[in-house]
Amino acid sequence: MSLIYKSTRGGEGVCASMAILKGLADDGGLYVPERIPALDVPVEALAEMTYQEVAYEVMKLYLTDFTEEELKSCISKAYDSKFDAQEIAPMVYADGAYYLELFHGATIAFKDMALSILPHLMTTSAKKNHVDHEIVILTATSGDTGKAAMAGFADVEGTRIIVFYPKDGVSPVQEKQMVTQKGSNTFVVGIHGNFDDAQTGVKRMFNDKELAAGLDRHGFQFSSANSINIGRLVPQIVYYVYAYAMLVHNEEIKNGETVNVVVPTGNFGNILAAYYAKNMGLPIDRLICASNENKVLYDFFSTGSYDKNREFILTSSPSMDILISSNLERLIYKISGEDPQVNARLMQSLTSEGRYEITEAMKKELSDFYGNYASEAETAQMIHDLYTDTGYVIDPHTAVAAAVYKKYTAETNDTKKTIIASTASPFKFARSVMTAIDEAYGNMDDFELIDELSKLANVAVPAAVEEIRTAPVRHTTQCDVDEMENVVKQWLGIKD
Ligand SMILES: *Cc1c(COP(=O)(O)O)cnc(C)c1O
Repeated sequence: MSLIYKSTRGGEGVCASMAILKGLADDGGLYVPERIPALDVPVEALAEMTYQEVAYEVMKLYLTDFTEEELKSCISKAYDSKFDAQEIAPMVYADGAYYLELFHGATIAFKDMALSILPHLMTTSAKKNHVDHEIVILTATSGDTGKAAMAGFADVEGTRIIVFYPKDGVSPVQEKQMVTQKGSNTFVVGIHGNFDDAQTGVKRMFNDKELAAGLDRHGFQFSSANSINIGRLVPQIVYYVYAYAMLVHNEEIKNGETVNVVVPTGNFGNILAAYYAKNMGLPIDRLICASNENKVLYDFFSTGSYDKNREFILTSSPSMDILISSNLERLIYKISGEDPQVNARLMQSLTSEGRYEITEAMKKELSDFYGNYASEAETAQMIHDLYTDTGYVIDPHTAVAAAVYKKYTAETNDTKKTIIASTASPFKFARSVMTAIDEAYGNMDDFELIDELSKLANVAVPAAVEEIRTAPVRHTTQCDVDEMENVVKQWLGIKD
């Protein structure tokens, strides 16, 4: 049976391949499946499968207009030796929780889980829909998406990719990873603004009909690799199913036993995937949404009021420094009883007032979620304590999740087995990690810290970090927020 994707703001439905190509719906809404499919393979069977096999069983339920051959080909091109762990997403038990390591791909952050397959889903979708325009991927990044998207799209025929990042809002390793990106179809721009400025600028370009017409005349069409694309969301559901099956396989839990999931959250994509997994029938109890000091989601879950009118704080977990969590719109739509008018009104209020409030009835629908946040001091303490107690080293994003999980268990006494999404390698944030362990490391330079971390954690320096030690800088463009469109036009050679 084919699954249709509707817009959260009421526009016409499309099939999966079209939703992947378009990214955002014409009315500015996000595509959502008209129903969430149920898992149709028993967990006992999933427990014996490889990551790639589980990926097929999950994704086939969502991407119903892909043939078996097309989907399997996308999966095998994505989840191969680019990952340095055979399990693709291995799990490590430490201090009472299971850390699901989602950082074994090309850029050592969890974005690789989806972005290594998205280019293949997109070029397959283009072929299926007889698209002859060159696809231009326009992306705003808070640090990790940009690099992971470029690594996925670099030199993929029929595509170009432009990445905007906040010039002073990413870690040195993140920036070096981006500005050294290879591939003649890649373009990186540092903007004088924060991530929300970058994301708002990108959204404006997507909604600009005149710009779209100009692109069309020159043989281009925009698409999005941001986490609003269902081609990002669907591959993220896979690892929750895989993790649960792995726990059953390893006899850590009984089949059917419920588990909690903790997700360090920014744009609400990763945790939304866990919510979809739960709605497919996976025995997940609470979805624990962990924020850093930009705790707009914590406030939302505790008050029902979403308010981005506040100071934007730069933290040691920059990929979560976000005040507009785009994917939350999909949850708002769901808890409104799938009412596009209600959702559109709230999103309109977010655009014009920077805030909105949900009704009591909608608030009741949020009981699957628990929200909390960790301060910078609590995050550093978490890294320090986990290392001291167990020898396991986690990055600041994962530490936010671990610290929130501690608050959750202290508040609820819930002893259910719990999976913590570990979203970045500590090597990507070596300075924050090492100084959390011991302030004395503050004197070392970034690569000394990386070598020291390798010794301390007893883990080899990942290839992704080794590469940038010596790689030449290829991208030096910077611009103001209001120049983003001109920069895009210039690079594509569009004059009118
Ligand atoms: C993107 C990112 C997050 C946040 O994920 P969302 O899907 O945006 O909520 C957390 N940690 C890391 C390391 C990331 O790169």
